Amino acid sequence: MEQKLCIYNTLSRKKEEFEPITPGRVGMYVCGPTVYGDAHLGHARPAITFDLLFRYLRHIGYKVRYVRNITDVGHLEHDADEGEDKIAKKARLEQLEPMEVAQYYTNRFHAAMQELNVLPPSIEPCASGHIIEQIELVKQILANGFAYESQGSVYFDVEKYNKKYHYGKLSGRNLEDVINNSRELDGVGEKRNQVDFALWKRAQPEHIMRWPSPWSDGFPGWHCECTAMGRKYLGEHFDIHGGGMDLVFPHHECEIAQAVASQGSDMVRYWMHNNMITINGQKMGKSLGNFITLAQFFSGEHESLAQAYSPMTIRFFILQAHYRSTVDFSNEALQASEKGLARLMEGVANLKRIVPADGEGSVGMAYVDELRAKCYEAMNDDLNSPIVISHLFDACRVINSVIDRKATIGREALEALADVFRTFAFDILGLKEEGGNEGAREEAFGKVVDMLLEQRMAAKANKDWATSDKIRDNLAALGFEVKDTKDGFTWRLNR
Ligand code: ZN
Repeated sequence: MEQKLCIYNTLSRKKEEFEPITPGRVGMYVCGPTVYGDAHLGHARPAITFDLLFRYLRHIGYKVRYVRNITDVGHLEHDADEGEDKIAKKARLEQLEPMEVAQYYTNRFHAAMQELNVLPPSIEPCASGHIIEQIELVKQILANGFAYESQGSVYFDVEKYNKKYHYGKLSGRNLEDVINNSRELDGVGEKRNQVDFALWKRAQPEHIMRWPSPWSDGFPGWHCECTAMGRKYLGEHFDIHGGGMDLVFPHHECEIAQAVASQGSDMVRYWMHNNMITINGQKMGKSLGNFITLAQFFSGEHESLAQAYSPMTIRFFILQAHYRSTVDFSNEALQASEKGLARLMEGVANLKRIVPADGEGSVGMAYVDELRAKCYEAMNDDLNSPIVISHLFDACRVINSVIDRKATIGREALEALADVFRTFAFDILGLKEEGGNEGAREEAFGKVVDMLLEQRMAAKANKDWATSDKIRDNLAALGFEVKDTKDGFTWRLNR
C-alpha cells in the first residue's frame, strides 16, 4: 500500500492512520436507506461520501467488501399517533403487500444512485431477510444478562450494561445525560427504565409485518439489523462503520452496546460520519416544506427549485465540501457548482485537443508529478475532496494556457496529465460526462473547427482572401473567437 490514508474516527475523536484488521482487505458497513419513500438529498450525502471512500480504498489497492443495508422492516419510525410503521401504513392505505412498497422504493433508490454514479455495494442485505440472525442476537444478549423480556417484547438493559461498559462512548454522553434528555414514550410501562431500547417488539393486532419468535409474534428493534448483518457478512471484528451524523445517537451507540453485550468486545474499529445537509440554512424535513427528492432535483419540479440540476451537479456540489462539514443547498450554490463542473469538464475536453510539443515543453513532468502528489495528499488527509477539486481547477488553468499557446506540453507530460484527470476526477471523485456521449461529441466538434481553420490557413496561403474571411466571419457569427498566431491559430467558443 503506497498511500497512507488517514481518517477521522468518531470514536477516538481524532484522525488516525488507517490500518485494516487483515492486511490488504477492508470490511466496511454503511447504514443504508429506509425504503418507505423516495430517495432525497439526505440519502445522497452518505451514499456519495462512502462511495468516495469505497472508490479510494480500491484505488490504493485494497480488496473491499462494502455492505450497505436496506431497512425494509418499517419498525424504525412510527407514526406517533398510531404506532404503526410507515411501510405497513402505506401498504394498508394503497392496498399493497408491504414488500411491494419496499421493493418499489428500493428500485427508485437504485435508479437515483446510478444517476449519481454511486457504485453498488458488494452486498446489500435487507433487514426483513435477516430476522433469524436478529433473533439470534437478541438471544445472546438475553443469555449474557443485558436484556429482559417484558410482555412479549425484549428490551436492552442500559443501566446494567453501563455498570460494566460505557453506554455513550461514541456520542460522548454519559448515562445521566441520556436519562435527562430522554423523552421516549414508546414502551412506557413495559420498560424498567425509559432509556432502555427495544430489541424485539410484540406486534399489535393491526401490525402486518410480523415474525414468530420465542417471545411473541413481532418484529426486531431497529438497531438490531445493522449489528446482526454487519457480523454475518463482515465478521465479529471489522474495519469501518459509516453513516450520517444523525445516526451517532441513538442508532450507532445502541449498535455498539448490542455488539459488546453479545460478544464481549467491540465489533468496529473506525466509525465515520458525514455531516448533514441543510436547505437555505434550515434543517430538511417533510413538515418544513423543504423536502426535495432526488428525482425532483433532476427534473426541476419543485417550487423551491429555480431549475433542474443534473445528477453530476449534485454529486459535484456534495464533493465540493469536506464530508465532515455542513452543506447548505440553495439555488445559488447549486448554480455555482454547475458552472464549476462545466469548467472542469471543459478542461477535460481541452486536454483532448492539445497537440503535444516536440520535446519537453514548458509544462514538464515535474509539474504533473507534483499535481498528482498533491491530489493524493489531499485524499489521504481524511478524503479532502474540495482540495482535490481545487488542484484540478489549477490544472485546468494550465491546460487553457496551452490551448491559448502561452505554454507548451510534451507528449509524456500530456499523457500523465490526462491520467491524473482520469484517476482523480473520474475514478476517485466518480464524476462522469453527462448528456449521453457528449464527451465524444465535444471532441469531434473540436476537430471539425480545427479542420475549418486549417482550410482557412490553406486559403490564406493561396491568397484566397474571400474564402479565408468567409470562414472567419461565419465562425465569429457563431460565437467563436479566432486568433492568428505566429505558427497557426487558436480558437475558443465564447458561450
Ligand atoms: Zn444502521
